Amino acid sequence: MLAGAMASVCLVPTLGYPRWSIILGIAVGTAYAVISRPTRGAYVDNLMAAGALGIPIWGLLSVIAFPLGSGQMPEWSAEQMRAHFPALVGWVLYGAALGIISQGLSDIAERVLGPETAPRLQVSSAKRRIVILGGGFGGMRTAECLEEHLRADPSVSITLVSDTNALLFTPMLAEVAGSSLEPSHISTPLRSSLHRTEFIRGHAVEIDLEQRQVILGNGSPELGTGRPREIPYDHLVLALGSVSNYFGMANIEKFALGFKSLVDAIRIRNHVIEMFERADRESQPSERRALLTFVIAGGGFAGVELAGALNDFAHGIIADYPNLRSEELTVVLVHARDRILPELSESLARYAQQKMEERGVRFRLNSRLTDTQPGAVVLSDGEIRATTLVWTAGTAPNPLLKSLPVERDLRGAVFVDDTLAVKGHRGLWAIGDCAAVSDAKTGKTCPPTAQFALRQAEVLAKNVHAQLEGRRAQTFHFDSRGALCVVGHQTACAELTVPLARTKSMRFSGLFAWLLWRGIYLSKLPGIERKIRVLMDWTVELFFPRDIVQTIDLR
Ligand SMILES: Cc1cc2nc3c(=O)[nH]c(=O)nc-3n(C[C@H](O)[C@H](O)[C@H](O)COP(=O)(O)OP(=O)(O)OC[C@H]3O[C@@H](n4cnc5c(N)ncnc54)[C@H](O)[C@@H]3O)c2cc1C
Repeated sequence: MLAGAMASVCLVPTLGYPRWSIILGIAVGTAYAVISRPTRGAYVDNLMAAGALGIPIWGLLSVIAFPLGSGQMPEWSAEQMRAHFPALVGWVLYGAALGIISQGLSDIAERVLGPETAPRLQVSSAKRRIVILGGGFGGMRTAECLEEHLRADPSVSITLVSDTNALLFTPMLAEVAGSSLEPSHISTPLRSSLHRTEFIRGHAVEIDLEQRQVILGNGSPELGTGRPREIPYDHLVLALGSVSNYFGMANIEKFALGFKSLVDAIRIRNHVIEMFERADRESQPSERRALLTFVIAGGGFAGVELAGALNDFAHGIIADYPNLRSEELTVVLVHARDRILPELSESLARYAQQKMEERGVRFRLNSRLTDTQPGAVVLSDGEIRATTLVWTAGTAPNPLLKSLPVERDLRGAVFVDDTLAVKGHRGLWAIGDCAAVSDAKTGKTCPPTAQFALRQAEVLAKNVHAQLEGRRAQTFHFDSRGALCVVGHQTACAELTVPLARTKSMRFSGLFAWLLWRGIYLSKLPGIERKIRVLMDWTVELFFPRDIVQTIDLR
């Protein structure tokens, strides 16, 4: 707050209205202080990060919100941009000053009150070992919470093993595929986010419950470096997530693009650009149409968001291909039921479908994918000539769990009791997409979403801590906060649970829901630096066309 007030000196000359500039400076400075976790002495980093933050704030406030507030529509003309330029300078200077001042105040506070984080622990000297498998939402949150609970306990070590070295923020994955966001901006590095957890990038190939150890595969970076291939544990947390499930359809597994990982999203984006390049030099209209037809299987959140993002992307870049016309372009969503988005109420799902249809997306409802060949997608009620198929229609818990002698549900998820412990195996726990968790209050099975994985991780960390101290574990209960889905350009659907009236929900659609989506997910994206990078991408997207540079050569 103090830093915001001091930095607002930079806003006064460029925004005018001194009182409002100071109030705004304090508000932004307070929000920055709440979400940033400055590292001691990182003045240059803070100056750069907070200075850069000035750009998206300028875009959101000076270019969009202020004109809207005074009854004018925001304009992007060169003349308007020239008029907004002094405010841009003011916001960047404000951000830079805010970064330096808040860093200085934080360093002074730390010197007076003592260091914030506990030092890293040596695994070898620890008596009890907690190993977390999987660095996704569940695994990373478990490690964060355990760090908090065990801050004062040097007798316990925490190790996180994951085959990727960053947490992937999947709610924004469709925006990477649609070229709105840079891939690395939605991935938070695990090493720098965790303070006393030992991070090992490795692929677990076996879990030996008898010997109480995890075995890493040959491809793991630990081999040859003198670090252990077998990782012993006293407590093991399974947070291995899920994989695409093709229900035994070999051709679909072989030819379809997946949509689960960052690499999948990058590949989809590059593939779409590749199809445009090929279509541009194709003289046969029917071949061109096949190249420009993008089929997405699955009408859940992932499929709908991807269809919306690809439709926007494809229509946004067609101007760069003078031989192609937008009528030749089709995004088709195939869904086995009679309506998309079963997670949302029917009225919102119909709204989403209608909006997408208005923008050119075609729907094949009550239709199942049965096969695919290069150039054709076979459905239960016909065939579509298309060179692109993306599969989002099924997931299954991580296949590594099949090898464990534990109880699993029909999908293969590990059954846990209402404290998230695996029955009959002391010290074994499971959460997230790989676990079959029943809510202790309602008895309902929890859905495989990040929202639930995060809450389960918080309870699980408390329970591991309780067991270490010989206390009683608590049961898991969580009421969903609602669901949000972007259906395309500045349009979304949101169904949020009313606080204190859990059975009631508030429904929003259109631009307001889209702004809600962006605000809520931006606040959930871990790390101030990632937030700023994403905000900058969104700001750049407002003013410039989508990028069609291919980052992978798919020929
Ligand atoms: C496109 C898309 C959009 C989504 N949007 C939303 C949304 O808007 N809201 C929402 O709540 N949920 C959303 N979800 C669902 C959400 O991503 C998952 O429910 C959530 O990631 C589950 O968390 P988890 O920790 O169980 O698994 P994950 O986050 O998948 O993490 C599993 C981790 O285990 C690692 N791993 C796997 N196998 C091994 C191995 N053998 N050895 C070592 N490490 C391994 C993986 O690399 C990964 O880091 C979305 C999912 C997708 C695919």
